[in-house]
Amino acid sequence: MNITILGTGFAALTSIKQVRKQSPSATITVIAPKAEMLYFPSLIWIPARLKKGTDLIVDLTNFFKRQQVNFIQAKVQNVSNQGRLVETSEGNFENDGLIIATGGRFIKKLPGIEHAITPCEGIAAAEAIRDKLDSMSGGTIAIGFGGNPKEPSAMRGGPMFEFLFGLDTLLRRQSRRSNFKIIFFNPMPKPGKRLGDKVPDAVLKLMAKKDIDTHLGHKMVRFEENKVITEGGEIDADLILFMPGMTGPAWSQNADLVKSEGGLLKANEFCQIEGLKATYVAGDSGSFPGPDWQAKQAHAADLQAVSAANNLVKELNGDTNFEVFKHELVCIIDTLSHGILIHRTEKRTILLPPCRLLHFAKLMFEKLYLRGYR
Ligand SMILES: Cc1cc2nc3c(=O)[nH]c(=O)nc-3n(C[C@H](O)[C@H](O)[C@H](O)COP(=O)(O)OP(=O)(O)OC[C@H]3O[C@@H](n4cnc5c(N)ncnc54)[C@H](O)[C@@H]3O)c2cc1C
Repeated sequence: MNITILGTGFAALTSIKQVRKQSPSATITVIAPKAEMLYFPSLIWIPARLKKGTDLIVDLTNFFKRQQVNFIQAKVQNVSNQGRLVETSEGNFENDGLIIATGGRFIKKLPGIEHAITPCEGIAAAEAIRDKLDSMSGGTIAIGFGGNPKEPSAMRGGPMFEFLFGLDTLLRRQSRRSNFKIIFFNPMPKPGKRLGDKVPDAVLKLMAKKDIDTHLGHKMVRFEENKVITEGGEIDADLILFMPGMTGPAWSQNADLVKSEGGLLKANEFCQIEGLKATYVAGDSGSFPGPDWQAKQAHAADLQAVSAANNLVKELNGDTNFEVFKHELVCIIDTLSHGILIHRTEKRTILLPPCRLLHFAKLMFEKLYLRGYR
């Protein structure tokens, strides 16, 4: 049985481990641009130099050897023939079963978006924030995020709160916070609701305590070189950080795969792509049924990947007793000095106030998580 997994992010690597566990003899083929994983959650620490870009990249050579993976270095360009053919920059590859885990794409449609740094894009963006801050003696920093109106789960709110509070802490540590104005903008009047009903009030209270101004509830219009323009007014800013909403992977735009209204690969509760056999999606690439507080998170990607892998192996073995993936949101919103824990399930939401220990727990989690892939 030839199982092909696309990508080397959270969902792809968890899928590899789970397929190997369920099917020791399967041929596992992985297709991705590099045999590397980028640990996105720790990008937030690059501006403060708590982490370097190279700390966040894991070379997967040993992991692939241990898991007996056949790695193909290529960019996926299309999935055709009802999921059985992956077309790439290096040729076409057939499979018996497929898990798509190539992440999402940011919707960079707002006019003038090139004047804002998109912090979640990767190491270069986080380093650009660090370097710009170093060059500034004072000024205004505007930080905000938007969404995908047709796919409410496809946004990155938590990390933007982390950049916001992290930059505040950093400037205080450098004894130059008083030279800067920090302003948080968002089209929602109560941002962060997805993380829990109490979260918007908790983060807004923390912003007030830290002297962070807000510009909320106004639709975004455009960016100019030193300006954020919304329907509710303009913000003059020397540094703009903005996370747009997300949609499905770029390669899938013209692929003959069912997509949600928001442009993500449409899956059912078993992570199966609608209308296809033995073709699954996990992580940021997919649109999944479930509660309205679902988030695009590494933790969700891992949970989906486990179910996708289990169900694919079952399907290829003729078993139709598929498992439904679990909905759970777990995150620590880090402020560079403290962490705020949020745990949400279908039954309850837990929100713990800022705690120093949770900052160290988040650092430790990275170490433990990546140990399995080094
Ligand atoms: C700053 C930041 C902080 C975050 N903090 C947290 C947190 O604290 N907790 C949490 O749970 N989540 C957090 N997240 C979200 C989390 O990182 C994502 O939800 C997670 O990375 C999604 O995993 P994925 O495997 O779906 O996609 P990705 O991790 O994006 O991986 C996608 C993979 O696909 C590959 N790929 C892309 N295009 C192609 C192609 N054409 N062909 C082949 N391969 C391709 C990429 O190279 C990559 O290997 C954070 C994200 C950011 C940016």
